Amino acid sequence: MEFKVTHRCHTTRARVSRMVLAHGETALPTFMPVATQAAIKGLTPEQVESLGITLILNNTYHLNLRPGVDVLKAAGGAHLFEGWRHNMLTDSGGFQLVSLSKFTTITEKGALFSSPFTGESTILTPEESISIQHAIGADIIMQLDDVGEYISISRYIGPRVEEAMERSIRWLDRCIQQHESSGQKHTQNLFAIVQGGLNPSLRDKCLDGMLERKDRVSGYAIGGLSGGEEKDVFWRIIKQCADRLPEDRPRYAMGIGFAEDLLVCVALGIDMADCVFPTRTARFGVALTHTGPMNLTLGKYAKDFDTIDSMCPCLTCRDGTSRALLHHIVTHETAAAHALTIHNIVFQAQVMGRARDAIIAGTFPDYLRSFFASYFGDRGYPEWCVAALRSVGVDLLENSNIPMVSGGGAKWEYSDAA
Ligand SMILES: [Zn+2]
Repeated sequence: MEFKVTHRCHTTRARVSRMVLAHGETALPTFMPVATQAAIKGLTPEQVESLGITLILNNTYHLNLRPGVDVLKAAGGAHLFEGWRHNMLTDSGGFQLVSLSKFTTITEKGALFSSPFTGESTILTPEESISIQHAIGADIIMQLDDVGEYISISRYIGPRVEEAMERSIRWLDRCIQQHESSGQKHTQNLFAIVQGGLNPSLRDKCLDGMLERKDRVSGYAIGGLSGGEEKDVFWRIIKQCADRLPEDRPRYAMGIGFAEDLLVCVALGIDMADCVFPTRTARFGVALTHTGPMNLTLGKYAKDFDTIDSMCPCLTCRDGTSRALLHHIVTHETAAAHALTIHNIVFQAQVMGRARDAIIAGTFPDYLRSFFASYFGDRGYPEWCVAALRSVGVDLLENSNIPMVSGGGAKWEYSDAA
């Protein structure tokens, strides 16, 4: 991997970098759409490529179950199998194993689970996770980390979080060992995952351990967040980790996809993020826009003949597809899911692309102020966004008529569909 920071924001910790992997160059910060079953639901690889996407995330858990490692090996890897010519990142499979299988047990050896298809008991070890990711052939592969027996572990600060954090460091060593002995070291890049739940001192301990292994990993992810924790805790953990992670390695915040979260993370020094939210919410009929999410299933769009966003360059908006038409077909025609998926992926790409342009132009604080003003408008700024951006020198409330609201912030139209 070639990784170089090319521009820095003079106010915040935001930066623009160039990351060159085996399948080309990706400009950071970037948002990675998630292709769960070897494809972004509803889109062909050519369509994804035409949206300007150069890095996608594939789920190891799903690829390992279907089509399975044998098919991927026979195909020559997931790139060839899927017809995807650009960069790809795979997760370790551990998180989905825990979130999708009720019967997963974590032991020092690995994660024990029963196959959802055969019921057969299987173990996913750190070595196995790396081998599967080698067979998939992703440009960036993730260490297997201990995410606990249940998805909500990040809410807990108890001894299980400490055990999981320490085990994640031990498992990183096993992943490094497997990766370095494989011959894939020069084409595939291993990222470590910082754990430690919501406890700052456990996060620091994990950072200590993982920074010691810096020469043997290509990048760092921050895991264990986005599990429904308080937003005020979320941004402080991101900041704590981003502040300590090395300047010369990409920093990846896992499971982050709301526009406001993305921009706060970028301001705190994050380079990469992924989430199923933009594509999943599209299938529920929600379009993302710079004035907030728009739930096209609502009756108020039945006679609204505007496009989703007159300024949007996506195919759906350029074709003149009206909100009324989308409302009419949204829950029963796959064409609607398709049209909204295209729009939402372009929206995410634009949020990040404009962030990169603004960092390069030296106007990132202005971009943050104008984006948040347009996005939250009279709903008011969430208190946590104000606090997070203040911590890096940007005050949303300065010269602004928009009030600050405490708690989780704006209640969007998608509240029951997201
Ligand atoms: Zn659009």
